[in-house]
Amino acid sequence: MISMEEGGVMVFAEQEDGMVHPITYELLGKGRELAEKLGKDLSSVLLGYNIEKEALELIYHGADTVFLYDHPSLKDFDVIRYKQNIVSLLKEEKADIFLLGATPIGRSLGPRVAAAMETGLTADCIELDIDGADGSLVQIRPAFSGNIIARIKTRTKPQMATVRYKVMKRSHRDTMRKGRIVRREVKEVSETGIHLLKKEPLKGVDISEAEVIVSGGRGLRKPEDFKLLEELSRLLGGTVGSSRPLVDEGWIGREHQVGFSGNTVKPKVYIACGISGSPQHLFGMRDSEVIIAINKDPSAPIFKFSDYCIIGDLYEVLPALIREIKKSVGE
Ligand SMILES: Cc1cc2nc3c(=O)[nH]c(=O)nc-3n(C[C@H](O)[C@H](O)[C@H](O)COP(=O)(O)OP(=O)(O)OC[C@H]3O[C@@H](n4cnc5c(N)ncnc54)[C@H](O)[C@@H]3O)c2cc1C
Repeated sequence: MISMEEGGVMVFAEQEDGMVHPITYELLGKGRELAEKLGKDLSSVLLGYNIEKEALELIYHGADTVFLYDHPSLKDFDVIRYKQNIVSLLKEEKADIFLLGATPIGRSLGPRVAAAMETGLTADCIELDIDGADGSLVQIRPAFSGNIIARIKTRTKPQMATVRYKVMKRSHRDTMRKGRIVRREVKEVSETGIHLLKKEPLKGVDISEAEVIVSGGRGLRKPEDFKLLEELSRLLGGTVGSSRPLVDEGWIGREHQVGFSGNTVKPKVYIACGISGSPQHLFGMRDSEVIIAINKDPSAPIFKFSDYCIIGDLYEVLPALIREIKKSVGE
């Protein structure tokens, strides 16, 4: 549907070096649903250089219109340049809703756009809906350490939210979908005070992309015991995760933390070893496809959320598992 009606839902399409961040497709999936509830259009704004092909992808993933800002000055993310162009677009298009990913780029851009638009911003949403009574955006996110789920509404427009990566379903790609690509004139800002000196490749793991995660909790006795988890995850082609206390103790880097104040993960297999299953930990991994828990306490809450429950000592279960897997792969 492409209506000429004002407003609608707009999604910030995040890209780096021409690679669209997958959160964009998750936002388009949810954005489509919201736009249909409102009976309005779903648009997306894409900024960068030589990115016309990516604009088409956004249409295949659900956008009715893509506002394209293609210019050498936008090649690398610059929060001031991006903000200037997005703010004028939002003012012209009078979007009702503007969504960004809760990624480092989205978290940096969102508040600046919101301040310039004199509107609110709800960070780190895990769900979004439309209030059937007044058509406003209901922004849903955990509050008070995840003990309650708050439903937040904004009086001003656009209603803005950042959304956590991997909490929403990615939109379906349909190459038959039609839409408009509208090239916009780029507002050039010659000097923003930001100079990119060098791009450093991501160090360590990106746990949110892992297909298998073997996670350890306070059931581990000492930092060196992570080696057991590393061995199992290596055999399964996965990566190691952790509950927060071990990260706080400095046993493992923060990039491995799963949960409310860490990463949200959705692997094919999540193996929780010596993790009790606090609401804050569950928040980050409960949408995993298959959850296997190893815990010596049969009443551990994690078992209520697990597909396979192994009641036992991880120091006996893990070596046995590793031995069997090694046998089957001939190591
Ligand atoms: C604001 C806030 C944010 C937070 N964010 C996060 C977060 O992002 N991620 C997170 O994980 N936590 C977070 N927490 C902490 C959270 O509340 C819990 O304290 C934490 O998840 C508990 O970690 P755990 O399961 O490893 O430890 P515990 O709860 O102590 O559980 C250890 C488990 O190991 C089992 N066990 C012991 N020995 C063995 C053995 N030999 N073999 C098998 N099982 C064994 C025990 O039966 C127990 O169930 C947060 C807390 C707050 C207040």
